[in-house]
Amino acid sequence: MALIDPFGRAIEYIRLSVTDRCDLRCFYCLPKGYKDFEEPDHWLSFAEITRVIRAFSELGVHRIRITGGEPLVRKNIATLAKKISQLPRIEDLSLSTNAVQLARHAQDLKAANISRLNVSLDSLDAKRFNRITNGGKLDKVIAGLMAAKQAGFHPVKINMVLMKDVNDDEVESMVEFCIKHGFTLRFIETMPIGDTGRNASNHFIDLEKIKTQLSRKYTLTPSVMHGGGPAQYLKIAGTDLNIGFITPISQHFCDTCNRVRLSVDGTLYLCLGQSDKLVLRPLLRQGISDQALKDTLIKAIALKPEKHEFSEKPEQVVRFMSMTGG
Ligand code: SAM
Repeated sequence: MALIDPFGRAIEYIRLSVTDRCDLRCFYCLPKGYKDFEEPDHWLSFAEITRVIRAFSELGVHRIRITGGEPLVRKNIATLAKKISQLPRIEDLSLSTNAVQLARHAQDLKAANISRLNVSLDSLDAKRFNRITNGGKLDKVIAGLMAAKQAGFHPVKINMVLMKDVNDDEVESMVEFCIKHGFTLRFIETMPIGDTGRNASNHFIDLEKIKTQLSRKYTLTPSVMHGGGPAQYLKIAGTDLNIGFITPISQHFCDTCNRVRLSVDGTLYLCLGQSDKLVLRPLLRQGISDQALKDTLIKAIALKPEKHEFSEKPEQVVRFMSMTGG
């Protein structure tokens, strides 16, 4: 294992953002009307992405999550997924999506060896979903979820950013929905990422309160789920439902962080909540050798900061989540 950061953490997981574009405008993520996206000339090509991931995999990375922006808006995404899944040392390839276009991609993604899907879904109420996402259609997401099930994805994890006075009255309906359909449910705390994320901070909920709320209605037992992530899981007794709690603010998990993020323009971000980065695109386009690329990645890992400072310096991250790769 070559990728050990200065704090002794082994980096074995890459969040790969294949686009900064999205077909939704969730108010806490991307501003309404936002159009200032990365130039197509700056997008890493599939060959460039595969080259970087191969180099990482030879240094010990074995898990990749494809994300964005919305990864399904990048053309031929299943082709890229297949290329990555065929790299000999990649053991786990997953994808995060808003599922708006999942119904027509689910089979291809399965055939491309994506093993796990995460779907973002903040409300089961069509009007509210439309409001939160600035125009999204809930029925498309539900169709996408059903297509994922049909294609054989298991587990499908639903990620719900839980927000006071926005969707916190839907905790139990989301639990029941996930029990009914066999999905896993994860609650996420709002983070001050970009102006949008900061503006949503007044909706922040400490997820400990949600655990307490759920424990009044259900018997919860500790549980473990496969995945590279930081969620702490509880299981609802008598059901197959695992509920994950992702608490970057109330109980951060930086000491076990095992990941870095590659954005669509070829910037390697060492932390979601800091600006430390390495710009890879010019090196790739100037013909860097495979060995020099690996040496560069090793040096980049030395830049990984100890922790985010969302609470201490909430003004710090100016880029939107979709730019870094969520
Ligand atoms: N489009 C894909 C999706 O919807 O899953 C992948 C990218 S999206 C940016 C990844 C996740 O980041 C989504 O679950 C979204 O809700 C979450 N997210 C975006 N901004 C956030 C914020 N400020 N705080 C917490 N989660 C955020």
